[in-house]
Parts: sequence; structure tokens; C-alpha cells
Amino acid sequence: MSASLQSFVQQRLDDRRAQQLYREHKNLTAAPNPVAVVDGRELITFSSNDYLGLATHPQVIAAQQRGAELGAGATASHLVNGHFDIHQQLQHKIAELTGREAALLFGSGYMANVGVIGALVGRGDYVVQDKLNHASLIDGGRLSGAQYLRFAHNDLDALERQLQRVSGQQRAAGSGKILLAVDGVYSMDGDTAPLAEMAALCQTYDVWLMVDEAHGFGVMGSERFPCAGSVAAAGLDQDSAPIVMGTLGKAAGNGGAFVAGSRALIDYLTQYARTYIYTTGMPPAVAAGSLRALELMQEQPLAQTLAARVSYFRERAAKLGLPLENSTSAIQPLVLGCEKTVLQVAETLRQSGFLVGAIRPPTVPAGTARLRITLSAVHTESQIDALLAALVAALAATELPV
Ligand SMILES: *Cc1c(COP(=O)(O)O)cnc(C)c1O
Repeated sequence: MSASLQSFVQQRLDDRRAQQLYREHKNLTAAPNPVAVVDGRELITFSSNDYLGLATHPQVIAAQQRGAELGAGATASHLVNGHFDIHQQLQHKIAELTGREAALLFGSGYMANVGVIGALVGRGDYVVQDKLNHASLIDGGRLSGAQYLRFAHNDLDALERQLQRVSGQQRAAGSGKILLAVDGVYSMDGDTAPLAEMAALCQTYDVWLMVDEAHGFGVMGSERFPCAGSVAAAGLDQDSAPIVMGTLGKAAGNGGAFVAGSRALIDYLTQYARTYIYTTGMPPAVAAGSLRALELMQEQPLAQTLAARVSYFRERAAKLGLPLENSTSAIQPLVLGCEKTVLQVAETLRQSGFLVGAIRPPTVPAGTARLRITLSAVHTESQIDALLAALVAALAATELPV
């Protein structure tokens, strides 16, 4: 390595360590179910996004194994020869579950967000985002070349001020499209966006609404579309919330992502989303596993089980005086503020047999380091009780006020 590269890299690594922000992999032998062997130790895992336990569901794994018989890989991009019947079936199933005309598969949620934003807006346009949006939406906005505007988290007044500002600029310039992109459920906070109010603002200002359902798809919805996500839960449909992105690597337990919307929107993205066009198609095993996972979401009351676990966790945690956030989703953060404390508590929990996420900046804003506890339909009440007891003990050991 050249001396200047070596010293640049070393300096940046030293900075990260000094700030308590250095990250390390944990090595698991297999997906948590929710127990996992982590660096040689058995831990009950409360950090995965496999909210319904589908990553380890025998029928999902069997479907992936059958899917692998179609080929280990897709062998080309979707538009060359990498689009199989199984992909088509999965797209139909996603459209059915989300109540949309059509859906398009992407290699990951990150790629879907970057591809969709870049396909819809560019130089001379505007993209408006919540400050706590996921990094992939932020990066998609930046890469698109559109003017980038942010608003305070879930603050409808701040959002409306930005929309007034950009529609003024838009009129002055004589053109410019406006895209509003938000997380439906916030990945590090677990709270939901006020989507119905946002959709109304979008109507008023002629703004296109894009919702990232990474943490909503599969676990919430409406009576008619119980697994569709936060958009359906907010009473919105394809007209009021035209662009929906969801992932297949979280509640669906597999990997990859999709965009769902009108037939015309999906046709457009097929032609113009560069992260769809210039990449190898989804491996058929992943498509087959995802399809089975989505069928299981329809056939079994997994989302209700998850909701019961979340309520149980919140009830018990409140009784213990733990500082819960305003979240009714599977994501239950405990904001401790200081990076060092978060690392210390996470380490103590690990010694007691539990794995939770220690989330620090830059993933979350400075001063809001937190434990990100996630619940799954496969957690038992006694596992939740055991975690809470260990948590109370770990917090007491750091002499934090609980
Ligand atoms: C995880 C996540 C993504 C990215 O999805 P991947 O399929 O993991 O790339 C996008 N948005 C949000 C809100 C997420 O939590």
C-alpha cells in the first residue's frame, strides 16, 4: 500500500476508535431463531430484522432449496436473460399483498431507493426528506442531482414550509418535479411517519410521495391488506401513496427488495431505474424463498403474534421503569445518549446471554446512541422477561438513572 494511503486509512481508523465509534463484525454460525451462536457463544438475539421468524422457517428454507434447482444464479440481468417464472410469480404475489397493480424486484433495498429516486428526479428537480430517513434514501437523493431539502423528524409544519419553499422556487424556475421520500417506520426509532397528513400535503403541493416500507411490510397493514405495511395502515392506496418500496430481507426473512405501484410506474422503472437494469437478477432461490415467505404471511397470523410480543415487552418494560420510546413497532430503542454507556450495557447483556444492537453515530444523530432492541414473533414471553431482567441489571451496573 502506498505510504499516503496507509497513513490516511490509519488516521481515520484511529479517529473512529478514539470516538468509541469503531465497529466490528460478530460471527454467527447461522441465522438467529432467535438463539444464535455468536463468536462461539449461544445468545438470545434481539437485534435481527427477521420480525416474523421467516429466515429460519423450514418451509422457507425448503422453498429456497427447490429454487436453487433452477440455477445457483440468475446468470444475467433481469432484462437480458435473468428473469425467470419464479421472479414473475413473486412480483405478482407482492402486488397482491400490497394492493398495487404491479411490482418490480431489486437486488436490495439500498439499490431500490437509489434507483427509484434517480429515475424519478434529477437536476432541476427537488427531493424532500425527513432528517432521520434511512441512509439509502439520503444517498439516493444526493446521487440524483436533484436539490436536496430536509425537515425535522415527523414535523408536518417543517415539511409544509419546505414544500411551500420548493413550490415557490419551482414556479420561479418554470418547472421542476418534487419528490417527498420518507421511511414509513423509522429503522432506529420504530415510530411511524404521519403518512395520511403527508399524503394530503402532497396532494396540495403536487408532490410525489415515496414510502420506504423496509420495517412496515409484512408486519402491519389494513383490514383488506394486513401485510402491506404502514401505507395501508394509514388508509392510503396506490393513488394517494403512489411509490412504495419494501424489502425482502427483513420481515420476509430472505433478501432483496421491491417497488410496488401502478403498471405504468413499474414499466417506467423497468426502463429507467439504473440499479435495476445494470445488475444481475435476483438468485432464483431467493425469489422462491421470498415467495413462500409471503404466502406464509397470508396463511398464518404471524403479524398478530409479533404485535402481542411487542405489547408484552412494552408493558413489562414500563413496569420496570425503563425509558421506552414512542414506538409500537418491532423496533424498541432504549436511548442512552452516550456511546460508551451503550457499548458497556450491550457488552454486559452479551455476558448475560443476549445480543442487542448498540447503535451509535453516524447511524443515529450525535448524543442519541441507543440500544436497538428488536422483537420477533418467535421470541417467547420468558425470553423477553429474561432480557428485561438482564437489562435492568446491566443499567444498574453502569449507575445510570433508570
Ligand atoms: C434496511 C433498510 C433499507 C435497505 O434495505 P436492504 O435490502 O437491506 O438493502 C432501506 N430502508 C430502510 C428504512 C431500511 O431499514
